[in-house]
Amino acid sequence: MLKIKNLHASIDDKEILKGINLEINPGEVHAIMGPNGSGKSTLSSVIAGKEEFEMTEGEITFEGTNLSELDPEERAHKGIFLSFQYPVEIPGVSVTNFMKTSINAHRKANGLEDMPANEMLKLIRDKSEMLEIDRKFLSRSLNEGFSGGEKKRNEIFQMAMLDPKLSILDETDSGLDIDALKIVADGVNKLRNENNAVLVITHYQRLLNYIVPDVVHVLVDGKIVKTGGKELAHQLEEKGYDWLKKEAV
Ligand code: ADP
Ligand code: MG
Ligand code: MG
Repeated sequence: MLKIKNLHASIDDKEILKGINLEINPGEVHAIMGPNGSGKSTLSSVIAGKEEFEMTEGEITFEGTNLSELDPEERAHKGIFLSFQYPVEIPGVSVTNFMKTSINAHRKANGLEDMPANEMLKLIRDKSEMLEIDRKFLSRSLNEGFSGGEKKRNEIFQMAMLDPKLSILDETDSGLDIDALKIVADGVNKLRNENNAVLVITHYQRLLNYIVPDVVHVLVDGKIVKTGGKELAHQLEEKGYDWLKKEAV
């Protein structure tokens, strides 16, 4: 599904990613862990196509399409979902209306008509029931006065509605409390299936107690220095990152 080959990326001429190779197949959950400043968020931004980063070398393909030719919106419409660390408040726009707009924008970009109203209602009902989101929440203004947990609930709801092929969840700096963390984990676990893939980016091992990854990669100084199974996350919890920093040089 996603193939990254020898990816180098810079910001303001400073090289942050220094030769990343990564392959994610349908049905897989991958975790990227690593110390602060190692380039985890940069990697998610580059996959999503954020323009402040410059790819200087390498290749990213998604289902065989070279992503470098697509802007962030086009990538989203192809089925790449990037969770937003700093969600915007939109007073007067309800959660429901926001979801309708997102869905129809995706449909339009893929040459489809707006979703018929009854179908949309059913989709909203099914997904909100699945994620145990109550009706009152659906009529609230987007992100206005949302707690950390509610922001996460909204984000996971959007992910459920859009049904992306690849979801990238960058949870590094968002300071999740245990409730918010469980909302994210339960949502991801309900949504994961053999056709989609998830890339969870996190500084902390504890999220991976709830979302059990198939593959764990450790990013240090812009390079993947180790790849392993879920046990690698536990090793990092015990031993920290220093032993890998030594291996990296
Ligand atoms: P992580 O998510 O692993 O903590 P980041 O990808 O956020 O790491 O950052 C990697 C490096 O890139 C850091 O040295 C950081 O200072 C630098 N960096 C990230 N974003 C920017 C930016 N917008 N402008 C300048 N430097 C940046
Ligand atoms: Mg950081
Ligand atoms: Mg980060």
